[in-house]
Amino acid sequence: MIELDRLSKTFKQNGKDVTAVDAVSLTVEEGQICVFLGPSGCGKTTTLKMINRLIQPTSGRVLINGEDTADLDEVTLRRRIGYVIQQIGLFPNMTIEENITVVPKLLGWDKKRCRERATELMSMVQLDPKQYLSRYPRELSGGQQQRIGVIRALAADAPLLLMDEPFGAVDPINRDAIQNEFFQMQRALNKTVIMVSHDIDEALKLGDKIAVFRGGRLVQFDHPDTLLAHPADDFVSQFVGQDSTLKRLLLIRAEDAADNAPSIAPETPVEQALDALEDQDRRYIVVTDGDNKALGYVRRRDLRKQDGTCARFLQEFRVTSAHDENLRILLSRMYEFNSSWLPVLSPEGTFLGEVTQESIADYLSSGRSRGKGGIVSPAQPSPAPAA
Ligand code: ADP
Ligand code: MG
Repeated sequence: MIELDRLSKTFKQNGKDVTAVDAVSLTVEEGQICVFLGPSGCGKTTTLKMINRLIQPTSGRVLINGEDTADLDEVTLRRRIGYVIQQIGLFPNMTIEENITVVPKLLGWDKKRCRERATELMSMVQLDPKQYLSRYPRELSGGQQQRIGVIRALAADAPLLLMDEPFGAVDPINRDAIQNEFFQMQRALNKTVIMVSHDIDEALKLGDKIAVFRGGRLVQFDHPDTLLAHPADDFVSQFVGQDSTLKRLLLIRAEDAADNAPSIAPETPVEQALDALEDQDRRYIVVTDGDNKALGYVRRRDLRKQDGTCARFLQEFRVTSAHDENLRILLSRMYEFNSSWLPVLSPEGTFLGEVTQESIADYLSSGRSRGKGGIVSPAQPSPAPAA
């Protein structure tokens, strides 16, 4: 966990004091990505550089796991904090291997350990170590160099990574791929990351939390979906853009937007099921077993004038949704299959509710957002209609 406590920086410019960073306080949990977002000149880089003391704070503290880093010497600090500078910043006169192992060497790793680490990291980003380790940066494409920049930051195995617009110089096609690779590595290696960006889409894609800066001040620090749903002021609102609801579709999951749809047991007599469907004005109902596992569904029109139990009329689901799929994927699937609803299932097949056009609209307009407001509980079986 890293904590910034009223971190401030005042520069002297032409004899005048300029406050670049003004009492920024925030906490980033272990294994999470925090994105510093804001327009040019708002203090993102200065804040980042104060964390590893490339810039000395004017006031305030940086704590790592509760320990004030002002008490740490710089070698210890660098061991704990990896750094990716703005743009790529590979040393042109060093090979890729030398570039990757700059910090491990400073930390006194032997040659063998350095090589093993470089080889391992290269393989993680799908660059053949045999082919590339001995090359020079100019012999690699821009996208490949960017990857080296990222794995160089990971090389010393520091638990905390600071990244200043690490993907800023990559073309859009490579950027998407590298962001994805980075995200997977970050999750796999459980790194804590603070990343500077001026790109709202990058921030929404990668951030567990987003810190929006304006004029050296922190104006909002929230989960990306909360930022979109509840921008703190007009500035944040303009920054996130007019299509914030569409952007939210990528962040909200099926389990967030599922409604508490009822379900029935397969042994339910047809007559009872029909009554329940009519009472609730439903065309269908999901069928679950005693463990709330979803078995399929029955349609009202199939039950009419029939007898026996619902088991006989059970239909297989044409399409379903996993609990953690995002709404954009779900809407796409609903259109593709011309389906007005999707049952939401847990990894074990438990019925968690249904996503419908209405449940999505309800969620989006409810004032709830991810990061605030809970997850729906497994759907309740509808109370058995009075016999
Ligand atoms: P960002 O990374 O958000 O673009 P910076 O942190 O680089 O912004 O800069 C914040 C403000 O501090 C700007 O107004 C910038 O001009 C000023 N600044 C940054 N570094 C220095 C410096 N070394 N001396 C004087 N002013 C600086
Ligand atoms: Mg900057």
